[in-house]
Amino acid sequence: MGSIAERVEELRAEIPAGVELVAVSKFQPVEAIKAAYSAGQRLFGESRVQELLEKITQLPEDISWHFIGHLQTNKVKQIIGKTSLIESVDSVRLIELIEKESAKSGVTTEILLQLHVAREETKFGFLPEEAETFMLGGGFKKLKHTRIRGLMAMASNTDDEKIVREDFARAASVFRKISDVAGTELTDFNILSMGMSGDWPIAVEEGSNLIRVGSSIFGERKYN
Ligand SMILES: *Cc1c(COP(=O)(O)O)cnc(C)c1O
Repeated sequence: MGSIAERVEELRAEIPAGVELVAVSKFQPVEAIKAAYSAGQRLFGESRVQELLEKITQLPEDISWHFIGHLQTNKVKQIIGKTSLIESVDSVRLIELIEKESAKSGVTTEILLQLHVAREETKFGFLPEEAETFMLGGGFKKLKHTRIRGLMAMASNTDDEKIVREDFARAASVFRKISDVAGTELTDFNILSMGMSGDWPIAVEEGSNLIRVGSSIFGERKYN
């Protein structure tokens, strides 16, 4: 294992063209982010609002931030205007709140709907049928300040590759179904965010075009 900068470079060389890398920097110090930045990485992911806001003030302005954690409704206001993408929108109520706060601030917020395809009870997200009902029912049409750019999904937390692949395939099939139908009205519904350190190659094989990698760049997280 080399330095953070070397690991970013190696990973970027491995990832196929057309797949973007989010360096997941949650729980990592600002110095670690600077090391990845020095290797050209400009897209980072954070999972806690407070931590994101603090890091933004300490790091270069040309960094794009994705929010990837569970977003509490009472924190929405603070995050509007700070991210290039909120990947983890897990309820219709949250969409409505993002719309309301974005309108107030006069900005457009780009989001992904987080799908729940893992076989664990603990993960947040829309069930595939809920996401389809919302999107195919045209629920996005009344949004003026919120753009739904695609879906984010996490696979089951297991070493069984077959299960992981099935979870990703299921999310990809929901993504295609919505893309087909939303088609002309939602032309920029084109982001499928799947894959982390342990499973991104499988996710990419199943159609992911955005991967979120933390520990294999930065090493283990030190939770505080
Ligand atoms: C922490 C996290 C990641 C990164 O996980 P690693 O296993 O460290 O690569 C990716 N996506 C989400 C939603 C996360 O919370």
